[in-house]
Amino acid sequence: MPFDYAPAPESRSIVDIESNYGLFIGGSFTEPTSGEFFKTINPATEEVLSEVAEAGQADVDAAVAAARRAYDKSWSKMSGKDRAKYIFRIARLIQERSRELAVLETLDNGKPIRESRDVDLPLVAAHFFYHAGWADKLEYAGYGPDPKSLGVAAQVIPWNFPLLMLAWKVAPALACGNTVVLKPAETTPLTALAFADICQQAGLPPGVVNIITGAGETGRMLVEHPDVDKVAFTGSTEVGKAIQRAVAGTKKKLTLELGGKAANIVFDDAPIDQAIEGIVNGIYFNQGHVCCAGSRLLLQESVAEEALASLKRRLTTLRLGDPLDKNTDIGAINSSMQLSKIEELTASGEAEGAERWSPTCPIPEKGFWFPPTLFTNVTQAHRIAREEIFGPVLSVLTFRTPEEAVAKANNTPFGLSAGIWTEKGSRILWMANQMRAGIVWANTFNRFDPTSPFGGFKESGFGREGGVQGLGAYLNVEDPS
Ligand code: NDP
Repeated sequence: MPFDYAPAPESRSIVDIESNYGLFIGGSFTEPTSGEFFKTINPATEEVLSEVAEAGQADVDAAVAAARRAYDKSWSKMSGKDRAKYIFRIARLIQERSRELAVLETLDNGKPIRESRDVDLPLVAAHFFYHAGWADKLEYAGYGPDPKSLGVAAQVIPWNFPLLMLAWKVAPALACGNTVVLKPAETTPLTALAFADICQQAGLPPGVVNIITGAGETGRMLVEHPDVDKVAFTGSTEVGKAIQRAVAGTKKKLTLELGGKAANIVFDDAPIDQAIEGIVNGIYFNQGHVCCAGSRLLLQESVAEEALASLKRRLTTLRLGDPLDKNTDIGAINSSMQLSKIEELTASGEAEGAERWSPTCPIPEKGFWFPPTLFTNVTQAHRIAREEIFGPVLSVLTFRTPEEAVAKANNTPFGLSAGIWTEKGSRILWMANQMRAGIVWANTFNRFDPTSPFGGFKESGFGREGGVQGLGAYLNVEDPS
């Protein structure tokens, strides 16, 4: 039985949400030419938070034109030192407004305030600080004595880490001297619009950052716009492939950060209690809406029973509920569509013969929720072992030898991340070399840092974000990754 904690809700009074938002083009908010707006809701309560503009072709054209003007007239001509001042200012404003932004993120996305406050927002600020530091030092980044910017960057981001994905995209683009048109996901536009306000507050020259809201169609128009020089996308593999087809044969430079189905591998010499925390963080963090989530647990057979018992015991202590409550571990699923996808895939797991287990977990009446779940008796052929569920669902498999662990871990069309839990340093190095994954964590999981490049192999995409490697994606040089 979990402890009966008293409620500890974060106040939402720090956030002022407007009843509707226009498009942020050329430094100010404008009405969409279509005159159309769509609703964004709180997935934990289904309450409408605001109405947001739907950008059509004319708006996309206007945003790209504003970014081009800003690029030609000011941003590409400015010294790196001056660009850095703006980016540092943005970073400091994010820190000053971090409580407000964390509450807003939790309201629009459904993630626990503990995560938006302690993980997302500190990382968002860190990304801007880190890249501000690079803006006047690009000649020392290893891309030649005078690396040049690309021009206008079209950036499309998903709903799982709305402001953090914005930071991953916008900070390096600006540091390298590009201007930006960014489209946030349809279900989570509010923190990107708050960021537009921060750009105004920082006195960023008009048009350097443009934020246009809309559905997938708006994203398609943006990435296909002929006056865009760079496309950066994070989202599903399916849409990533469509974008790659659309930019093929153009001069546009492309980075894709797509799905994953990471193996989290626990050897029999691993510190089990620590590994259990890593497994929980690996798949139940952010309701499992994480592209690099450790969604396939590989347990060495000799410790499988013991580890599974500990894991189940730990899962009974997770608290699902009000995302604004500081004691909440599992928040709301971001949308009814995502909930249906999780339900469909977990039903397929049972139909294919895997065994489902969840702790007893009261589910709120309103909103979109899914209890932390694990499946045993999973084989590699099961859909739940092959497809990205993007929810709080763990598939547990076992192995006997390191070679078998490697074969199983790499048996996926994805290649974004992997985790290794063992006491032996030599085994960590051997395993890390065998993993066909862009990020390999050892005795930890889901650790992020702006200095460390992030990106995938195979169907998880290409190009790197973060670190010195990530700068190459926004400079007129060969991408080293
Ligand atoms: P999408 O890939 O559809 O969404 C990502 C972003 O792309 C959103 O801003 C979306 O807009 C936009 N978009 C959609 N279609 C196009 C297009 N043709 N051209 C350009 N941009 C487009 O992901 P979903 O939200 O539909 O999620 C579906 C599945 O994808 C999830 O269940 C999960 O498995 C996976 N996913 C993976 C992520 C990752 O980080 N690897 C992140 C998000 C999802 P809009 O929001 O309006 O649809």
